[in-house]
Amino acid sequence: MFVIRLFLFVVLVFDAYGKHEEYIGWKSYYVELKSETQLKTFKSLITKCEIDVLVHPIIGREGIVIVKPENQKTFEKEAKAEDIAFRIHVNDIKRHLDYDDKILERHRRNSMTKTNGRPLPYDSYQEIDVINDYLDYIGETYPNVAKVVDAANSFEGRPIKYIKISTTNFEDETKPIIYLDGGSHARERISIPPVTWAIHKLVENVTEHDLLERFDWILLPVINPDGYQFTFTTNRLWRKTCSNDQHLLSTVCLGVDANRNYDFYWNTAGVNDSPCSDTYPGSKPFSEVETRVVRDILQENVHRMALYISFHSFGSMILYPWGSGNLPPNAVEMHDIASAMAEVINKHSIPDFPRYYAGNLALMLGNEVSGNAEDYAYNLGVPLSFTVNLPYPIVTNSLEGYLLDPKYIGQVCRETWEGLIVGARKAGDHFKDKNR
Ligand SMILES: [Zn+2]
Repeated sequence: MFVIRLFLFVVLVFDAYGKHEEYIGWKSYYVELKSETQLKTFKSLITKCEIDVLVHPIIGREGIVIVKPENQKTFEKEAKAEDIAFRIHVNDIKRHLDYDDKILERHRRNSMTKTNGRPLPYDSYQEIDVINDYLDYIGETYPNVAKVVDAANSFEGRPIKYIKISTTNFEDETKPIIYLDGGSHARERISIPPVTWAIHKLVENVTEHDLLERFDWILLPVINPDGYQFTFTTNRLWRKTCSNDQHLLSTVCLGVDANRNYDFYWNTAGVNDSPCSDTYPGSKPFSEVETRVVRDILQENVHRMALYISFHSFGSMILYPWGSGNLPPNAVEMHDIASAMAEVINKHSIPDFPRYYAGNLALMLGNEVSGNAEDYAYNLGVPLSFTVNLPYPIVTNSLEGYLLDPKYIGQVCRETWEGLIVGARKAGDHFKDKNR
């Protein structure tokens, strides 16, 4: 008995102190950019100081960046030299990640989590099995409108599931399709609930009947289940997939940036060739089974796909192609629709969140991005293609948790859905005009 107790004690102690060790001494900073020149400098600092952007800054609005201990001095010195305003956001990232774990654990004990997917709770971030159970439950309970597709297994063998919602069994070829996905970047946990919330609003609690009747829907909540689960078990700030077959170094440095792995100007900008980098694009386009699932959905349905949206975080932005900064022929139209979505989200938002802006992907981020999903979808023929960077509260005091407190999940889902209502209706009108 004593041995068992001792063992438990040791396990508990290691469990409590063994997590997030790699982030001891890491800091994050608010950064404010005031000009194009500063934006350019900031871009060079990203590479030079291996900056990890948590919340994208735009000119005139603060963002948040994460800096490793060994680069903090250089970062502060160079930012000062260029007159870039910065101040501490979090002095000890590990401590805040530990706090996040505590919140999550509290919810795990108190809430409806692990209820076999019925209903899906929005009071906390759910692990992959809970989300998959929910999708299966929806498919079984509402077979007339919802069908679950087991598209493939992830690199580590987890199912990658998506759901097709249709009142006409996907057989009416005149109907436009709307596609939503999340969970491409593992740590961006908040990118998943707006997708499952859309399922909820199209199947369990329908208030916009036109959206259900008028469109077929494809919803893929978690593109990258391995990476997502890895953020619960191993590394909260993990971004990539978990494959280890891309490169000799891949066994040491796992994974590929799923949103740099698409076959459109692959590996040309906004990437880093080192497999240890967070923006490693893989050994070739579509090297990852996770991105091949998205590719196959797009190729199969592009002829009637009216709208493509991929959710990411953070930054309160709706972004459209191209990732090079060039504008495609219908950029004005995409800008109008993105702005209309932003406006309605702002109307339903809360003071803690920054206002949404609409703009071109590279111009807004100040950074070219090759091999991304939004460009791939647009190039394939989806007429309206967006990345939505969800909001992060810019609260200067009383910050305890680090990555979006679960108390905001419901708000993000509700306000995002309001934006989706507008975006979907506009996409439907656009599709009708195009096919007249
Ligand atoms: Zn992302």
